[in-house]
Amino acid sequence: MTDPKILDGAAVAAQIRAEAGAQAAALAAAGAVPGLAVVLAGEDPASEVYVRNKAKAAREAGIAARTVRLPSTATEADVLAEVEALNRDDSVDAILVQLPLPGGTPHARVLEAIDPAKDADGFHPVNVGRLVQRKPAPVPCTPAGVLELLERSGVPLRGARAVVLGRSDIVGKPMAMLLTHADATVTIAHSRTRDLPGLCREADLLVAAIGRPAFVTADFIREGAVVVDVGINRVSEPSEVARLFPGDEKRAAQLAKNGSVLVGDCHPGDVRARASRYTPVPGGVGPLTIARLLWNTVELCRARRGAR
Ligand code: NDP
Repeated sequence: MTDPKILDGAAVAAQIRAEAGAQAAALAAAGAVPGLAVVLAGEDPASEVYVRNKAKAAREAGIAARTVRLPSTATEADVLAEVEALNRDDSVDAILVQLPLPGGTPHARVLEAIDPAKDADGFHPVNVGRLVQRKPAPVPCTPAGVLELLERSGVPLRGARAVVLGRSDIVGKPMAMLLTHADATVTIAHSRTRDLPGLCREADLLVAAIGRPAFVTADFIREGAVVVDVGINRVSEPSEVARLFPGDEKRAAQLAKNGSVLVGDCHPGDVRARASRYTPVPGGVGPLTIARLLWNTVELCRARRGAR
């Protein structure tokens, strides 16, 4: 039986995907098929999977998705040249450069080269500024998906005390901004924060995005808090898997088959015991990220081509 406390990211993602699909169909009927271009440089296996899933989901929603592949020897200049070409291509409404770039190539200039009107991930400084000022802009997909999940699940945000654990440009900072706009009172915590468990225990809503497996334990979670676990970490040590998932035969079988299992930033048993509602890993935040990418693509198409 599924746990009634679970915030069902997969179900909300399916809703968003269906809505994006309907919008894409309407745009196509008006002569503007939304176009998404994903730039994939190198052969990072995790990136390959992400890009394949994004392109597949886009096609299912009626978006013309194309993957532009560059070799692992691609330089910053090569990626920049590709981005410039896509900026000029009128059939492309949304551009996403999959990170990380190969060989530790810095990505700041690449992200800034994307036309802000085609910025699928909402990472361009212009769009970050627009988000801060609460103006229409593509919003980074993961935090945008989390906000959708909370709102559509009826989690009260107005006046709530929220702690966002992690301050990255991709998740933590935009998450904090979106929650602030939703009238929560937000604290951003990070690796230099003093008394992290004590601070997190004050939260009605705790969003964990730090990339540390099962870091958030019972002492971080106020009884009855809502906990969103953004983390995606792989654990391969059998004793650690057994400690985090005692008696879980499905996980043990996954470990035997794949050599690792997915663990969020929160201790799964502790979250289940203390939170009033929570996102599982996997199946919580992950599906929302892709759904919001489709949404961003459709919105960019509408804004850029003036179609309704
Ligand atoms: P980053 O590595 O960019 O940022 C991590 C943040 O966590 C930093 O602000 C860092 O603090 C903070 N942090 C790290 N260790 C600690 C600690 N011990 N105590 C307190 N704070 C700490 O990660 P991302 O934001 O990109 O990703 C976070 C997690 O979310 C990862 O597991 C990632 O895989 C996952 N993710 C999931 C997505 C999804 O679709 N579900 C999408 C994107 C990310 P400081 O700034 O001080 O260094």
